[in-house]
Amino acid sequence: MQGLPSRPADFDLAPFERLDFSSADVHSVVVVGSGPAGLTAALYTGRANLSPVVIQGPEPGGQLITTTDVENYPGFPEGIMGPDMMRKFEEQASRFGADLRYGMVTAVDFSVYPFRLIVDEERPLLAESVIISTGASAKYIGLPNEQRLLGRGVSACATCDGAFFRGVELAIVGGGDTAMEEALFLTRFATKVYVIHRRDELRASKIMAERAMANEKIEFVWNSQVVDVLGETDVEGIALENVRTGEVTQLDVKGLFVAIGHKPNTDVFKGWLPMNDAGYIETVKGSTYTNIPGVFACGDAQDHVYRQAVTAAGTGCMAAIDSERWLAEHEAERAAVAPLAK
Ligand code: NAP
Repeated sequence: MQGLPSRPADFDLAPFERLDFSSADVHSVVVVGSGPAGLTAALYTGRANLSPVVIQGPEPGGQLITTTDVENYPGFPEGIMGPDMMRKFEEQASRFGADLRYGMVTAVDFSVYPFRLIVDEERPLLAESVIISTGASAKYIGLPNEQRLLGRGVSACATCDGAFFRGVELAIVGGGDTAMEEALFLTRFATKVYVIHRRDELRASKIMAERAMANEKIEFVWNSQVVDVLGETDVEGIALENVRTGEVTQLDVKGLFVAIGHKPNTDVFKGWLPMNDAGYIETVKGSTYTNIPGVFACGDAQDHVYRQAVTAAGTGCMAAIDSERWLAEHEAERAAVAPLAK
């Protein structure tokens, strides 16, 4: 295959030498990740008779598995629970032949064709095209009660969950653009939104900071960090520590939104694909093509702007169409590796 990259300088060949790739199955399409992007890519490539294999990753279904009601996905006027929606995505992809497999891709070698992937450090896989849809994970503060009350007042997505908090006081953690944007969004529902920031200066752009500061429903709590989330079954308050004085106070809010950034799950592709500083994969504008022919990226692994289930599904569809066309265009080159590929 023309145009494949050479191996990155720090590439570890040992795991590939340990495994027997000569008898590994070759798949036309391997989808890495199983959120809305990956499962839409699987649905489309399945309907195109490409028999995609989906390596589901550590959280099959993706971020929506930890969400409660999804009210902003078109086609569900009554809303749908996140896990239920992802089960429907899975059923639909499976119906058209997608092979959904538990496991995590732990290493890739894009310098040879078919591409070599290792699942869970022990299962070799060969792919004629790869669709990366590994998503991103919201960063959390790291408090035990924060995780316990996730979906019960703790959320990392105001767009998803804000509307469930009408007429109550809320808090949001973070001082970046996301925190400002989400704080402003939350003022549509909440009576008051506290922005908790660990410093006395925002990281957010001037325009976003000014907008938030001009909103009378938003109150900034500076130099403070959340040290506990209170409540038995639902959030009933948060404990705040002033990082300068050490004083601990309580805020009786009914929801805590965490907006301290996201991390794309792209570590395994580092060195192979161009990424921005935060680790989001860069794709050719208006497409899902990466710099490696036959490797496509979609969903939150490459989108740090919109980050919605519906946009992820949209780019998953794009990746499926891009890969289908690419496979067809490279039929002759693929045939050249036929003994391995068939
Ligand atoms: P970000 O810019 O990295 O900001 C993260 C914020 O969370 C920072 O204020 C940081 O504090 C705080 N933080 C990080 N870890 C923390 C912890 N453990 N405890 C408490 N606070 C913590 O992330 P983002 O706001 O998600 O933005 C990501 C990118 O998307 C940025 O480039 C942003 O400009 C862009 N974006 C743009 C828009 C827009 O233009 N409309 C909207 C959303 C996002 P420190 O400041 O002290 O580090």
